[in-house]
Amino acid sequence: MTEVTWILDPSSGHLVVEGVTAEEAAALAGDLLQTARDLNCARPLHWATAPLATPADTSGAMLRVARIYHGSVVEGPGRRSVVQLQGCPIKCRGCFVPETHDPDGGTALSVAQVVDTLLDPAGEPRDGITMLGGEPMAQPKGLLALLSALKALNLHIVVYTGYTLDALGRRPELEIRKALLLTDLLIDGPFVATQAYDAGEWRGSRNQRLIYQPGVVLAHRQRRGRGA
Ligand code: SF4
Repeated sequence: MTEVTWILDPSSGHLVVEGVTAEEAAALAGDLLQTARDLNCARPLHWATAPLATPADTSGAMLRVARIYHGSVVEGPGRRSVVQLQGCPIKCRGCFVPETHDPDGGTALSVAQVVDTLLDPAGEPRDGITMLGGEPMAQPKGLLALLSALKALNLHIVVYTGYTLDALGRRPELEIRKALLLTDLLIDGPFVATQAYDAGEWRGSRNQRLIYQPGVVLAHRQRRGRGA
């Protein structure tokens, strides 16, 4: 049996139904719903930000960004502001956001622009910030700069990645290890279309895992692996 999750956003009054199509949701509760609409992953109800442009000065930390939006209730705990990064080398079959795969697509933004947009008062209330893709770990330098800026403000951070935590542990870039230490919740692994049903809260497919404090988990695993 398919698991159906109903999420009522108390701030906006919107009802998000996970696990069924808009047509199925209307058949289940048509008398409660107005016009139902399919969202799919990373497609929020409202685009809360105007398009951003690359700044004249690109000498600081930069990120290629597909979009930034607010009020997501399906990409981590509570109500979240989200940055969807551009570029993904993983290319899972059935990915809902193929337009984010091209590493040269989207817009190059400074980390300061991304922070300012994520923290736009128009996006409040928010319980935290989510990074998804595209593939956030494909831009380790910019990602680390962004996470450092957000963590300095004591914000709760969720990062989605198509890599497993173990695969990230084998990556040579120090920035990845540091980014994991600044992440409160990692949702790891590729999207597997055949495992999409009953994926569970915040996940796209059942193989994906919720890993809290992934930097600590990884360090612990690697110490054990070395026999410490
Ligand atoms: S990792 Fe995410 S963005 Fe990349 S192909 Fe898979 S589902 Fe799509």
